[in-house]
Amino acid sequence: MTPPVFDVAVVGGGIVGAACAAACAREGMRVALVERDVIGGGATAAGMGHVVVMDDSEAQFALTHVSQLLWAELARELPDNCEYECTGTLWVAADEEEMAEAERKLAYYRERGVGAELLDASALAEAEPNLRDGLTGALFVPGDAVVYPPTVAVYLARAAESAGATLLAGTRVVHIADGSLQCQDGRELKAAKIVDATGTWATDLHPEIPVRKRKGHLVITDRYPGFVRHQLVELGYLKSAHSVGSDSVAFNAQPRRTGQILIGSSRQYGSEEGAVEQHMLTAMLERAVAYMPGIASLQAIRTWTGFRAATPDKLPLIGPSAEDASVWLATGHEGLGITTSLGTAALIAAAFTGRRSPIRLEPYLPARFADWNGKTD
Ligand SMILES: Cc1cc2nc3c(=O)[nH]c(=O)nc-3n(C[C@H](O)[C@H](O)[C@H](O)COP(=O)(O)OP(=O)(O)OC[C@H]3O[C@@H](n4cnc5c(N)ncnc54)[C@H](O)[C@@H]3O)c2cc1C
Repeated sequence: MTPPVFDVAVVGGGIVGAACAAACAREGMRVALVERDVIGGGATAAGMGHVVVMDDSEAQFALTHVSQLLWAELARELPDNCEYECTGTLWVAADEEEMAEAERKLAYYRERGVGAELLDASALAEAEPNLRDGLTGALFVPGDAVVYPPTVAVYLARAAESAGATLLAGTRVVHIADGSLQCQDGRELKAAKIVDATGTWATDLHPEIPVRKRKGHLVITDRYPGFVRHQLVELGYLKSAHSVGSDSVAFNAQPRRTGQILIGSSRQYGSEEGAVEQHMLTAMLERAVAYMPGIASLQAIRTWTGFRAATPDKLPLIGPSAEDASVWLATGHEGLGITTSLGTAALIAAAFTGRRSPIRLEPYLPARFADWNGKTD
């Protein structure tokens, strides 16, 4: 049988793959989306769903910022079950050093057109009455948002289908090369471009790329409407997210539309089993209670873990693979893949159509690791 032919075949139906499929299909390309399991069931189902502008580097800022704007646009069409809420982020400063960081961040964002404002201690207490006394203040970024990632992935996959894409779910891709894609069940597809959006599994198909699993724990509580009002992140989080060697935890709390509170976060390398680890969970919850003492009396209803696809420079891999120019990578989004899924898709659709890209692709090209020698830092 002659294999079906597509312009683009996307491997992996997480939020990144689904967004790429939707963006390419909406540009009129013939698209196939191949997922070995269910849409949105990988890291996308484990993530926190915080859509956030970050400023670790100019490249990270560019991708998160363009993505945040794309989320605000997409929000107009998202169904209710995607739970898009523009809660804003409160970056909480516990001391003067962190307040200085809040001021630096404020200047950085304002220079680049991102709305932000500083809150002093009393304004912070008014905004979030359940935070402990004695915090120094916060940076408020009102454009940041919260979504429920797995339903967004399903919505984007359906949007791709509505625009003519073919969805193949329940079949694992075992080989991709030279414009051809082989599935475990024997099916074969041909495509001018193949996008590998398999997240932490991208190393199965591309063992040469520098993607490592970075484990995270999350806890969700019962319903306590109004207990948390904004996405809360301690500014100390930046130290934790940056640390590459050691395990770390940081206070991170998110209000869900249901009134539930999602509590994070932890980061670990070298722990590749999905099991909840009591010592990490305890450290994470102690950190949360240190910022919001009332959390200690809330009922937790579920705890889980997930894996971020981390790269050595904390930027994703978006662009042609070193081995085969017809195969594009869209992986390595670490703890920002919900946010940056839409920017990634926009970059890929622009590259495939030859249209002007919203931001430069160069900082994310996998070729930057051509001489990668296995070092992680
Ligand atoms: C604890 C935690 C908290 C997080 N919080 C946030 C947050 O607040 N904000 C944010 O922006 N990001 C967050 N993230 C990161 C975010 O969840 C990920 O970056 C994002 O979900 C990655 O999406 P993806 O589509 O690349 O990967 P995945 O969702 O893992 O999708 C990959 C898909 O590929 C499929 N697949 C794999 N191999 C094959 C194959 N051979 N053939 C076919 N299909 C295959 C898998 O089944 C899977 O569905 C968090 C992550 C974790 C773990």
